Amino acid sequence: DEVSNLTVAVRIRPMNVKELDCVGATDIVRVRGNDLIIRTQPLGSSSTSVDHIFQYDHVFWSCDESNRIYSTQEDVFMTMGKPLLNSAFHGYNACLFAYGQTGSGKSFSMMGKHSYDNLDIDTDQYSGITPRFCRDLFEQISSLDKECVATVEVSYFEIYNEKIHDLLSCGTNANRTPLKVREHPVWGPYVVNLSVHTVKTYKELRTWLLLGNKNRATAATTMNEKSSRSHSIFSIELCICDGSKDGDMGRRSRVSLVDLAGSERLGNSHNSEEKIREGVCINKSLLTLGKVISALADQKKNQFVPYRDSVLTWLLRESLGGNSLTSMLATISPASTHLDETLATLRYACQARSIVNRARVNENPHD
Ligand code: ADP
Ligand code: MG
Repeated sequence: DEVSNLTVAVRIRPMNVKELDCVGATDIVRVRGNDLIIRTQPLGSSSTSVDHIFQYDHVFWSCDESNRIYSTQEDVFMTMGKPLLNSAFHGYNACLFAYGQTGSGKSFSMMGKHSYDNLDIDTDQYSGITPRFCRDLFEQISSLDKECVATVEVSYFEIYNEKIHDLLSCGTNANRTPLKVREHPVWGPYVVNLSVHTVKTYKELRTWLLLGNKNRATAATTMNEKSSRSHSIFSIELCICDGSKDGDMGRRSRVSLVDLAGSERLGNSHNSEEKIREGVCINKSLLTLGKVISALADQKKNQFVPYRDSVLTWLLRESLGGNSLTSMLATISPASTHLDETLATLRYACQARSIVNRARVNENPHD
C-alpha cells in the first residue's frame, strides 16, 4: 500500500437532548470497520431504505460510552494526533483539522469538554487531542538524549472574516485590531506581532490553552456566537538541537491544530449583511482548504496549489504539502434531522481521499 501524507477520519458524537426529544429524529449512522453507512428512508416509502456508504482511513464511533466499540478521546488522539507528534520529532511539519457543522463535536475533539477549567489529562478524561498532544510532547522531550536541547513555542489565534486575532496577548478584548500576514523570505508566511510563548512544561502550556479558550469564548459572546464562524489555530513550534554534534543548527518543526469554522451553509433568506459576509468568508476558506488538500494529495507534479486564496491556507502553507503530514477529522451528528449537513460533511471529507486513489491509477500508464 502506498503511504499517503493525508489521513481522513470521521467521528460520530452521541445524540444530544434536543435530538432525542425531537419527534421523528432517528439515529441514521452505522459503522462497519472503516465504512460509515448512512441509512435513509426516501419519502413515500415505508419499507425500503437506502444505504449511502462512505469509506475513510478511520471511523470513530463515540455515541455510547458503555459500548465496546466506543472511541475515547485517547483513542482519537492516538490515531490522529500521535503520528503527527512522532513526525514532528523528525523535523516534519504537520496539520490537523476538525471539520464539521456547528455542534457536531469539533471543539470537543480538539480541546475537550472542560476547555476553560481543566485539561489536566490525569484528572480530565475528556481532554481532547490538543492537550494530549502537548502533554506527550513534553514526555517525549524528557526522554531525549541528555545532549539534546528542545525548545517549545506556542501561539494561539483565530481567523474571523479573513482577519486574525491573537488569543494569547494581554488585553485581547480591548485590543481587537486585526493582525497582518507577511511573507518572510526564508520562513514563509507569518502573522506580524502575534505573541509567541516559550513553555517548558505541560503545566505551563496548559495555562496558555485555558486562557486562549476563555478569550475565544468571550469574543464569541460579545460578538454574537462568533466562535462557530471563526477558525482557531493552536500552533506549536518545536526545535531540537543536538549538542553532541558540532554546529548543529537543530531540527525545527511546526504543528498546527485547527478547529475550523462551522461548515453549515448559511441560509440566505433572512440574513443580515454581516452574516452574508461571514458566510462568504467561511465558504471561501473551507472551499480553498479543500482545494489545497486535494491538489496536494494528487501526486501529479506541478499541480497549482491555491494557498493564497484564503488567510488560513496561506498561513499554513509551510505545514501543508511537501513532507508535511495532514490529518482531517470530520465530525458529525448521528441524527436524521441533520442529514443534509452530515452528507455535505461526509462528501467534503471523501473528496481528498478519492483523489489520492485516482492519482495512483494515473501514475501507472503502462499497466
Ligand atoms: P462544535 O465545536 O463542532 O460546534 P462541540 O464540540 O462544542 O461542537 O460539541 C457540541 C456539544 O456536544 C458539546 O456539548 C459537547 O460536549 C458535545 N459532544 C461533542 N462530541 C462529543 C462526544 N464525542 N462525546 C460526548 N459529547 C460530545
Ligand atoms: Mg466549537
